[in-house]
Amino acid sequence: MKVKIKEIKVETNERIQLIDITNQVEEFVKESEVKNGLCLISSLHSTTAIIINENESGLIQDILYEVQKVFPKDEKWLHNRIDDNADSHLASAFIGSSKTFPIKDGKIIRGTWQNIFLLELDGPRIRRIILEALGE
Ligand code: ZN
Repeated sequence: MKVKIKEIKVETNERIQLIDITNQVEEFVKESEVKNGLCLISSLHSTTAIIINENESGLIQDILYEVQKVFPKDEKWLHNRIDDNADSHLASAFIGSSKTFPIKDGKIIRGTWQNIFLLELDGPRIRRIILEALGE
């Protein structure tokens, strides 16, 4: 069995932002030489998430709008007493910070409209994401 791990860094430039990392993930799987197995995408932060969806500019705005509606910044969150980003932690906790895809014939299997995004929830920052390919 083969296990390959790589850390990638993604620089964000908004407080809340979606960044398409599909190319980096696909490149990594190619380099890994894993032909059949799994690919994990895991963000190392408590104020980011990983989501899968279509890279369409209107939809990207809709997702960012909805995240801010569901997790509003101006609530009486207790965490805001020490750090003004409770909304970012809550969105990260409920949306989730990792995803897994199957790998077959050296490529991740994903639907045509399934792109992989880092969801920045408390930027701008430099974010670390672990990619792991595991299989044969
Ligand atoms: Zn915090």
